[in-house]
Amino acid sequence: MIDVKEIEFWREKMQKFVEKEMWPFEPLLPRFENTLPVKVTNNIIEKMKEQGLWSLTVPKKLGGQGISTSSYCAVREALGRTILWGMTGIHLGGSGDPLMVLYHCNDEQKERYLFPLIRGELIASFAQTEPGAGADQAGMKTRAIRKGSGWVLHGHKTFITHGTVSDFVIVFATTDPEKGRKGVTCFLVDKGTPGFIIGDTIETMGGDRLGDLHFKDCYIPDSQVLGIVGNGFRMAQNWFIGNRITLQPPICLGIVGRTIEELLRVFPNEVDDKWLGQIQAEYHRARLLMYDAAYKFDKGEEPQYEASLSKVATVGLTMKVLRRALEISGSHGYAEDSMFQRYYRDVRRLPITEGSMETQKMVTSRALIRGFSPVDSLSPITVSEVGGYV
Ligand SMILES: Cc1cc2nc3c(=O)[nH]c(=O)nc-3n(C[C@H](O)[C@H](O)[C@H](O)COP(=O)(O)OP(=O)(O)OC[C@H]3O[C@@H](n4cnc5c(N)ncnc54)[C@H](O)[C@@H]3O)c2cc1C
Repeated sequence: MIDVKEIEFWREKMQKFVEKEMWPFEPLLPRFENTLPVKVTNNIIEKMKEQGLWSLTVPKKLGGQGISTSSYCAVREALGRTILWGMTGIHLGGSGDPLMVLYHCNDEQKERYLFPLIRGELIASFAQTEPGAGADQAGMKTRAIRKGSGWVLHGHKTFITHGTVSDFVIVFATTDPEKGRKGVTCFLVDKGTPGFIIGDTIETMGGDRLGDLHFKDCYIPDSQVLGIVGNGFRMAQNWFIGNRITLQPPICLGIVGRTIEELLRVFPNEVDDKWLGQIQAEYHRARLLMYDAAYKFDKGEEPQYEASLSKVATVGLTMKVLRRALEISGSHGYAEDSMFQRYYRDVRRLPITEGSMETQKMVTSRALIRGFSPVDSLSPITVSEVGGYV
């Protein structure tokens, strides 16, 4: 059964942190950037560590706190209540919660990559997308060709979060084109490796700076293969299921909660009862979907269907609520210091990343066509006792 008390504990703990240690710094977030001054970021990170909000998902045997996926969702729901939720430094492994795919590191790789990431000493990035291979990964062209006791990488990755600033990149390349998905391998490539060229920075609407990365005759020894040769796609898929539950859905729920609170505080007469009632119903459904997926992931299942449904429900709801908030608030919402416009620009990336909305809808409909029964798969949980934000 899901541990409601534990979930509440983590949600309240993170909420207090967000209100006391993050809200005061929101005005410092530059208009078109997702980074606070380094000193401020480091200060927030130190406080997260001091207050036990670090390495939450890392297993205890690796020095972390090993909290459940459900509890981590609660932490991230609270984090979504600040416009600083996606800032560089606390995103993508910067909170001492490394990209899950790195648990495939061997002992030597753990010392070089995993443990420093857990301590917050390194920044990692994950390079899968290519020009012409985004939603459809089958079009991946980056090749790794066998040479001696290593591989030579050739290819181009694009739109990579932290790609220009990360200390190392997890790169996906085809090692055996004849085997399709079973011929994809994952490599750990250090910044500065000859043949690894950091290209242009891509500025974005939400302020994230994405990287264009090129690999030309880039020699990678066998010791830099992550996991097993040919298993890269499989590793990524499993990682994506976990991510699809913990990265976007809880952040969305936090954003919806804060947006509604702000609307009711500043524009109480403009918020229509029927609209709010409808949003409450959708919010509750979206939370149930998320905790259902998290519960199953904690049990060791691969809840791909549930994770996709959760993404579609939460991201769709957030876009809808923010659009309405911008309409209701008129010029106030459009103004630079409005949290609505900031959130809106930020969340516009969510339907595209971590598996686009269209792809997720295809996943769920194909599962149904194959005979998957959502009724049989319902988990025996209730999260109605867990306080939400709407
Ligand atoms: C802020 C941000 C951060 C990112 N960070 C990373 C990162 O760290 N690492 C990384 O590897 N990538 C990253 N990406 C890239 C992202 O994963 C891709 O942009 C995404 O996979 C979509 O690929 P695409 O942009 O090439 O769009 P396309 O694949 O060209 O798709 C365009 C649109 O068409 C839809 N579509 C595609 N195929 C179908 C179909 N068969 N049926 C119906 N609709 C379809 C898609 O859903 C999408 O809406 C990031 C992107 C952004 C915006």
